[in-house]
Amino acid sequence: MKRKCPPYIYSGCILQRGMSREKGGPSVYARYRRLRRTPALRRLVSETRLDASGLIYPVFVTERETEPTKVASMPGVMRWPVAEVVGVAGKCEEAGIGAILLFGIPSQKDAEGSQASAEDGVIQRALRELRSCGYSGVVITDVCLCEYTDHGHCGLLDDAGMVLNDPTLRRLADTAVSHVRAGADMVAPSAMMDGMVGAIREALDGAGFAHVPILSYSVKYASAFYGPFRDAADGAPRFGDRRSHQMNPANGREAMLEHEADIIEGADILMVKPGLAYLDVVRRTREEFPNHPLAVYNVSGEYSMVKAAAANGWIDERAVVLETLTGFRRAGADLILTYHALDVARWLRDG
Ligand SMILES: [Zn+2]
Repeated sequence: MKRKCPPYIYSGCILQRGMSREKGGPSVYARYRRLRRTPALRRLVSETRLDASGLIYPVFVTERETEPTKVASMPGVMRWPVAEVVGVAGKCEEAGIGAILLFGIPSQKDAEGSQASAEDGVIQRALRELRSCGYSGVVITDVCLCEYTDHGHCGLLDDAGMVLNDPTLRRLADTAVSHVRAGADMVAPSAMMDGMVGAIREALDGAGFAHVPILSYSVKYASAFYGPFRDAADGAPRFGDRRSHQMNPANGREAMLEHEADIIEGADILMVKPGLAYLDVVRRTREEFPNHPLAVYNVSGEYSMVKAAAANGWIDERAVVLETLTGFRRAGADLILTYHALDVARWLRDG
């Protein structure tokens, strides 16, 4: 069977026929290095571009500390008291970062995670603070119960310690509505409960918030890369793990089902989390759902590994981070949630 010549070979053939070469010269016609010669040429033909406006900066808001507190496992990341959030948000807006994503660390926890949806909860207070200061940047809130439950799981539990799906939906919906009421521009449910986006959509619509979009953590894997985050957000489960609701890292096809379900339920933006070990899933999502904005979460473990290696002088932090984020964009992500956002914005601006 005759194989069809791929287009790039074909154009090479045309070139070869049309060009005369010096006798004895090298028979190299396609010189891809021509466009790599100078920084300006490389920039001109760059297929992928990074821009601060596509970055989302996660911000930890704490009720347990009164001073900004370092997160030991994530150098450069802080837990901010409510009063400091306006300052951090302002810095992000000034740097041109697209949005901030708030995570709450409450002073009290219980079995139902009641502080997640409380009027005076830590996130609700931070949102009111931002709004009363006239903050106009995009504020997204994480919607889950794991930082608010005393057992550290993402939902309500049965007697055997299993996360209950449907009873948890109500709690997530109440939390989302309370965030929007306090001033959130967008909610980002991360609990990986079946039907979570639909329940939140219905509740938001019912409360008069049909205009508020949902960024769904549609594909969230049960990943070992979340370790440092649990330190930052104080949300580690007291027993067991999250494999009964988060996805098995071995599965790629199933991820497409998760996206599809969330789209049907009304998700406005899709997400793949984590990023580096799941670039194939990002690419596949881009191909199968080309018309939805797609976010990727460059998670805490990915961040801390780079920080640790850089602190040891083993890698060039700036180069590695920019290469990684470019990789996410090349794979098909529109938006990148990353703890590097402020640094990246500065590097992009300073060139
Ligand atoms: Zn959770």
